[in-house]
Amino acid sequence: LGLRHDKPVSHMKKESSRTITNAERLIDTASGARKGDVAAYYQRAAGLIMPHLKDRPVAMLRAPDGLKGELFFQKHIEVGRMDGLMQLDPALDPGRDPLVVVRSPAGLNETAQLNVIEFHTWNAIRDRIDRPDRITFDLDPGQGVKWAAMQEAAHLLRSFLQELGLPAFVKTSGGKGLHVVVPIVRRYDWDTAKGFSRAVVQHIADVLPKRFSAKSGPRNRVGKIFIDYLRNGFGATTVAAWSLRARPGMGISVPIDWDEVDMIEGGDHWSVSNIDERLDTGNTPWAGYADSAAALGPAMKRLGYEN
Ligand code: ATP
Ligand code: MN
Ligand code: MN
Repeated sequence: LGLRHDKPVSHMKKESSRTITNAERLIDTASGARKGDVAAYYQRAAGLIMPHLKDRPVAMLRAPDGLKGELFFQKHIEVGRMDGLMQLDPALDPGRDPLVVVRSPAGLNETAQLNVIEFHTWNAIRDRIDRPDRITFDLDPGQGVKWAAMQEAAHLLRSFLQELGLPAFVKTSGGKGLHVVVPIVRRYDWDTAKGFSRAVVQHIADVLPKRFSAKSGPRNRVGKIFIDYLRNGFGATTVAAWSLRARPGMGISVPIDWDEVDMIEGGDHWSVSNIDERLDTGNTPWAGYADSAAALGPAMKRLGYEN
């Protein structure tokens, strides 16, 4: 899977824009974004977000009555006559409704019509669903953690991964934190990927217990950062790069350079209100991603992780 970050291509066609009904409906009071703005954002960002959605099972967060209404997190969606969405073989996730993949910019328009705001993806792609192709570390600030501590934590995690010989790419979450992504070769099962990611997090928390917690739950991390490894199990998802967030102000998850970590002001640095300039730049911070997939063997050995 080649991740390319070329300039966004505008796929907005008259035919597809016509499919958005109630385009004037207000979605988010804070930014003033309307349903039509959400649809227009995804068409404008289509060239950037599609490589992150391609062939990956997706869960979608819908906000039919705007962010102040009820939100629906859906792993399954009736595809019906929507050409841009594809249902996968039910055997990939036995006992459940078929998984769904967004396969084209037209699909982004069809989902916008269904009031989809967020796209969350699996750490695996459909032709080999039992072998994850990445590990995601989700840096979550506990209550009272300052942004500067999050920036430091991201660099620290990166250095540790470097020690282990692993590549790491970073993006804003569009919310409170950052996501660090490690591309891996598709050779390990889910238990191994998750077990290894847990061991990394546990090690960091053991060495720096005042700053990090290896336990989830708000009470375990007051004043600390939880590096969430629970995103790495079968069926778990993380918000996709370039997805909007269904939170006030509508942040966006944006891939960044490691050098940029210190320049941004929060996980919601970019939002529907200020993304335009970023969309127009090259957006190449993850240019090396496709060629970076690493084997975990040497890292497991260095960490002393017994599979
Ligand atoms: P923030 O930076 O504010 O933490 P985030 O997207 O990382 O934003 P988290 O709550 O840490 O939010 O969740 C991480 C990921 O876990 C989400 O992006 C989502 O894909 C998944 N997730 C979280 N809550 C749920 C849920 N209730 N059901 C399914 N998946 C969830
Ligand atoms: Mn998070
Ligand atoms: Mn989390």
